[in-house]
Amino acid sequence: MKKYVCSLCGWVYDPAVGDPDSGIAPGTAFEDIPEDWACPVCGASKADFEAVEEDAPKGESDMAMWQCQVGNCGYIYRPEKGDRKGKIPAGTAFEDLPDDWHCPVCGASKKMFKKLA
Ligand SMILES: [Zn+2]
Ligand SMILES: [Zn+2]
Repeated sequence: MKKYVCSLCGWVYDPAVGDPDSGIAPGTAFEDIPEDWACPVCGASKADFEAVEEDAPKGESDMAMWQCQVGNCGYIYRPEKGDRKGKIPAGTAFEDLPDDWHCPVCGASKKMFKKLA
């Protein structure tokens, strides 16, 4: 089963985990989630989610993803996507973001982000 990522906030739906808070049991494929379900972080609809390709090309980029550590925000900054809201062009490494850049979801500063292994 494929994971799906919210294109607005970066929250990832993992079928193995489901979304128990919204009554989605672990093991539920994204396709089987009710149409009225919404992203638990930002409220986006199913249509705003896109499939995550598990076999992402390796080694073509050493730019790491960084995750917001605030509460249950969990926004993930993806260098290959940039941050449309913050006018950060795709291909910008987290390290190269301006110091006044904030998490587009909760407004946290760069200091609140942790590199994903
Ligand atoms: Zn979302
Ligand atoms: Zn955040």
